[in-house]
Amino acid sequence: METGRFAPSPSGRIHLGNIFCCLLAWLSVRQKGGRIILRIEDLDTARCPRRYAAQMEEDLRWLGLDWDEGPAVGGPHGPYYQSQRTALYQAALEKLETKGLVYPCFCTRAELHAASAPHREDGQAVYAGTCRRLTAAEAAKKTMRRRPALRLRVPEEIWGVRDGHMGAYQENLARDCGDFLLRRSDGMFAYQLAVVVDDAAMGITEVVRGADLLASTPRQLYLYHLLGLTPPRFLHVPLLLAPDGRRLSKRDADAGLDSLQDRLSAAELLGKLAYLAGFHPSAEPRTARQLLADFAWDKVPQTDIRIPEGLF
Ligand code: GLU
Repeated sequence: METGRFAPSPSGRIHLGNIFCCLLAWLSVRQKGGRIILRIEDLDTARCPRRYAAQMEEDLRWLGLDWDEGPAVGGPHGPYYQSQRTALYQAALEKLETKGLVYPCFCTRAELHAASAPHREDGQAVYAGTCRRLTAAEAAKKTMRRRPALRLRVPEEIWGVRDGHMGAYQENLARDCGDFLLRRSDGMFAYQLAVVVDDAAMGITEVVRGADLLASTPRQLYLYHLLGLTPPRFLHVPLLLAPDGRRLSKRDADAGLDSLQDRLSAAELLGKLAYLAGFHPSAEPRTARQLLADFAWDKVPQTDIRIPEGLF
């Protein structure tokens, strides 16, 4: 059975970019008669308080994007809050530790910043490998003074994905990405580890998400491999840009659902998004169910989509 997911990190009200992603994820899986799981990615509990998650569920329901398993409805793959799944991440971490692939990192934010490692296209720095070279005795001594973060040692190997929408994408893990975080020094598990553990444990077969996460996919595929798990199919969705060409962000108040709801019905909003996505010839109102007949990945552009002035 095809199984997709919504995996929001509710740190505020849902905005156009999230809605666009959720709509495409929903259409892609529902068109195949598949199931959808709602998983709340609230690892950063300070930024993602419960009230935002509850609001997110209400908003998705208002949009007519339904799901089969999740926090309120339950199901066999719970709990559905990442903050309640840390035992699973810990077990995966221990598995990687037994392979000798995890090492403690004591670098401070300032040190990481100062290290002259190249920066990736997605703005993240490639870790210079400073703590990789510490001996066990040096690491033990440092641990007495400061709780370390944990990193995964990555090889000089090319890992790539054949994205179902964007095509081939690959990285040399050591060169383009570097040893990446599995757990922060404050104990918070990293997104990369949690998302792999959860998508596998929840039996997700299809991941539809924003193109900003395409660059995370080689790291995630490497984790699937190390943990002996089967990866899903990935389809990355183009990002929406504001009319002036900027990346849409949570700071764009009029792209948030609280503002959109004042002006538009759910069908009006979805019709406009379907038009932007290229699979509907006009911006006429359409419910999610009505859009099922029209949706086709090959009509959706591969490049970022600029929202025309005045569309919303
Ligand atoms: N929680 C992530 C976000 O809201 C999405 C992660 C994913 O889809 O893999 O950006």
